[in-house]
Amino acid sequence: MFCPRCGTENKEGAKYCVKCGLTLQKLTLQKTIQQKAEMSDKNPAIAAILNFLIIGVGYWYLNLEEVRGIPVWGYIVGGLILGVVEFFLPVLGIPGFIISVLLAIDAYQKAQGEQGFL
Ligand SMILES: [Zn+2]
Repeated sequence: MFCPRCGTENKEGAKYCVKCGLTLQKLTLQKTIQQKAEMSDKNPAIAAILNFLIIGVGYWYLNLEEVRGIPVWGYIVGGLILGVVEFFLPVLGIPGFIISVLLAIDAYQKAQGEQGFL
């Protein structure tokens, strides 16, 4: 990373700038906090409704790239396939509904900056 004060290139994860001694770790921390704040800008109710309607879209709305190591597009594709299967086998609508509710709750919690259960 480049030092924001003097522009010197430092090793990734360096604590201090080698040239001017500026603390670099704090900057990384600030970035994380900023990212969290950006996420909490999102409306938890919208995230929940989106994840309920089509699994994964709520995560996409929250700018998440992956949840539990599974990329968000994987959830969306899975959700769409589940929707088609449910159309032909309505009995699967019941577990499908439960999954949708659980993922809606998870998206709601994540939108509030909490871990969620996934
Ligand atoms: Zn510097």
